[in-house]
Amino acid sequence: MTQTQTPPGRTASAAPVSQLSSDQINRYKRHLLLPEVGVDGQKKLLNAKVLCIGAGGLGCPISLYLAAAGVGTIGLADVDVVSPSNLQRQVLFGVSTVGEDKVKAAAKRLKDLNPDCKVIEHKVVVNSQNVLELIRDYDIVIDGTDNFPTRYCVGDACVLEKKPNVYGSIFRFEGMVSVFAPHLKNPDTGERGPCYRCMYPEPPDPGSVPSCAEGGVIGVLPGIIGTLQANEVIKLILGIGRPVIGRLLTFSALDMEFKTFKLRRDPACPVCGDHPTIKEPIDYEQFCGSPILDPKSLAETAAEVKHAKSATSGNGQGMTQPKPDPSLDARGLPPGYAYKPDWEVTPREVKGMLDRHEDFYFVDCRLPNEHQITHIEGTELIPLQQLNQHADKLQKNRDRKIVVHCKSGGRSMQFTQALRQAGFKDVKSMAGGILLWNKDVNPGGPQY
Ligand SMILES: [Zn+2]
Repeated sequence: MTQTQTPPGRTASAAPVSQLSSDQINRYKRHLLLPEVGVDGQKKLLNAKVLCIGAGGLGCPISLYLAAAGVGTIGLADVDVVSPSNLQRQVLFGVSTVGEDKVKAAAKRLKDLNPDCKVIEHKVVVNSQNVLELIRDYDIVIDGTDNFPTRYCVGDACVLEKKPNVYGSIFRFEGMVSVFAPHLKNPDTGERGPCYRCMYPEPPDPGSVPSCAEGGVIGVLPGIIGTLQANEVIKLILGIGRPVIGRLLTFSALDMEFKTFKLRRDPACPVCGDHPTIKEPIDYEQFCGSPILDPKSLAETAAEVKHAKSATSGNGQGMTQPKPDPSLDARGLPPGYAYKPDWEVTPREVKGMLDRHEDFYFVDCRLPNEHQITHIEGTELIPLQQLNQHADKLQKNRDRKIVVHCKSGGRSMQFTQALRQAGFKDVKSMAGGILLWNKDVNPGGPQY
């Protein structure tokens, strides 16, 4: 059982396992000792087919524990490649797999963990065109995604195809888990369970909820939430315990607190309600107003991988000095950048001002933790959020030239506008922020 590459939705059907070999009895004996599992339960696991959408923070612990438990077929859907910043939490991967397709690297690791496990690699972007076919041959679908269009897409498709959707999500120090399955019953009430849309009928405003890539996430959190999802998958396969259908479990890592909320199916839900209006997948990018694949994060991954590769391919002749990003234009701006000369100054111009010892007040308006990651010598840290608290410092410098920078130019523009509204005459925002500075003026400086 070493097949790996199968088109979406086509799982090659192997003969069901009817007997455990003596190696399997040895491998799974801790399971066999549990009356709730036993030989029959282990056979159910070996014959189960589950699909994990996303091989990231959640998908890693989920698939590791499911493979270890002897789940016979694990599909993994992801288009990403492994990048160095994944390794803080994505425990399937290592330095040796940076730059490889995640599904490929994951399959290798999972098959090493358990040769009983057939891993099916789906290197596809899950969308309304392919989702139904993709999930059709699986018993259970696991949502390990990180964006709203895919969550709604997977949620709706699971209702339409009557597959349990083992849901998990994480952000910073908080996570949540539930099982959405309107075709199954809430074990406490006997009522049909809710779906993802019953919990979140409307997507959040685009840009209002930062992703983990923007807001950060503590590395063990996907381990905790993903392991809880794997536990629910195993319970569903075995038909034991109380699945978390009709309940939402939330976890706070800082408070070390779990809470449970009741969730009910909404009879007016457009997909699982009594009179559904959504009978096939819709355009989820349009519905959510945001893309499935964030072009910014794709570019970031590519840059990270390239940087890691160039760092490890040293030729033993000493370090070469990093060069400014060749894609920048003659002024050191990214191609197509809508530069506003009245409001902005380029990092290259700021460097010139520093080199000529021109007098100006240089403000970093990011948060202190960002300043610690990377900063420019001589800047004064005044977070945008604390602008009013630092009014006296700013007032003292109101007759000087002021340059404000942030991470990529958005917050510094707000800061600049606020100061001009307060009557400051000579204030400009540094275009592209410190990320552009670290591409052009200080090439090789941290990108975060
Ligand atoms: Zn619903």
